[in-house]
Amino acid sequence: MSNTTKIWLSSPHMGGNEQKYIQEAFQDNWIAPLGPNVTGFEEDIKKYLNTPKEIAALSSGTAAIHLSLILAGVKAGDEVLCQSLTFSASANPILYQGATPIFIDSEESTWNICPIALENAIQDRIQKGKKPKAIIAVHLYGMPFNAETLTAIANKYEIPLIEDSAEALGSTYKGKKCGTLGTFGILSFNGNKIITTSGGGALVCPNKETKDKAVFFATQSRDNAPHYQHSEIGYNYRMSNICAGIGRGQMEVIDQRVSQRRTMQAFYDELFKPYEGITLLKEPSSDYFSNHWLSAIIMNSEEEREGLRLALEQENIESRPLWKPMHLQPVFHQFPYYGEKVAENLFAKGLCLPSGSNLTNQDRERIQNAILKYLKNK
Ligand SMILES: *Cc1c(COP(=O)(O)O)cnc(C)c1O
Repeated sequence: MSNTTKIWLSSPHMGGNEQKYIQEAFQDNWIAPLGPNVTGFEEDIKKYLNTPKEIAALSSGTAAIHLSLILAGVKAGDEVLCQSLTFSASANPILYQGATPIFIDSEESTWNICPIALENAIQDRIQKGKKPKAIIAVHLYGMPFNAETLTAIANKYEIPLIEDSAEALGSTYKGKKCGTLGTFGILSFNGNKIITTSGGGALVCPNKETKDKAVFFATQSRDNAPHYQHSEIGYNYRMSNICAGIGRGQMEVIDQRVSQRRTMQAFYDELFKPYEGITLLKEPSSDYFSNHWLSAIIMNSEEEREGLRLALEQENIESRPLWKPMHLQPVFHQFPYYGEKVAENLFAKGLCLPSGSNLTNQDRERIQNAILKYLKNK
């Protein structure tokens, strides 16, 4: 291992004003959940998403997915359709509800949920006697899913579309911001995402009534009474005023972060141009605008992919295989799956490359040298 500093896949990148907002919270002793930073952060997000929808800041993206399922009426025994090629947090909340996940393959162009396999699954599940209660589709690595086709399917069968936009703040589809394209939208501000609150998330709700209900569940479902009265199960899912302060500082630099991530993508695009056997995940048409949260490539084989990953590790550079599809995970093995082997093949041959907005020219040079060295010697 070389004694250089580590280059990470994606690390937090503060803008500068985060401490100002935290300082204000300390000065006012407003450390408890809720408070002016939470309200301000929600307003910042709403403005950035350019939407009449309402935002609820929460403790994590996972909490947002869980609440979206509750609000969509998902109960024990129900079925929920879910993109298989994703992070486990997309699927875990289905199990929190005691519901059954039905996993769906990816399409080649965006790597996201395949509309054909999705519709096949819906028809088959209906024929088997149960209409699925929700669809969870993901904008993988920031690449928007085919919103037009997916919305048409969701509308045709009247199934709510839950948009897992945890990786896609700043991405757009046909000019509309990801996070606003589904019945519910999910954002994550985990430490590795394009902006971070050190840990947090948000739920984009269709209207004020739904937001109020989300906040009600997120604050232990307290009925309107002087004592603590509960008629429904509650959760402790609200974002703290301190975390929201970090988020306010981060929202000041979100556009810079998107352009810095896109600079990394352009760097890889140039680097891999001469190599026919290496394909970068790219926007399929001008309808798609990706924040390129992570730049990811597909190589000729699993061996080659693993070779490059280990070569980078030797140079103290982090890279990672794509998300392992949920239908191949031991914990989800027994659940139904619809599709072919697109997600499985992507997983076998795909690699996520360092994509942080804080990477320097020097870092890029190190990455380039390490990659070219591997490609020359293999
Ligand atoms: C990060 C992530 C989540 C979960 O967000 P947390 O804030 O970490 O709970 C959900 N889905 C996807 C696709 C993610 O990448």
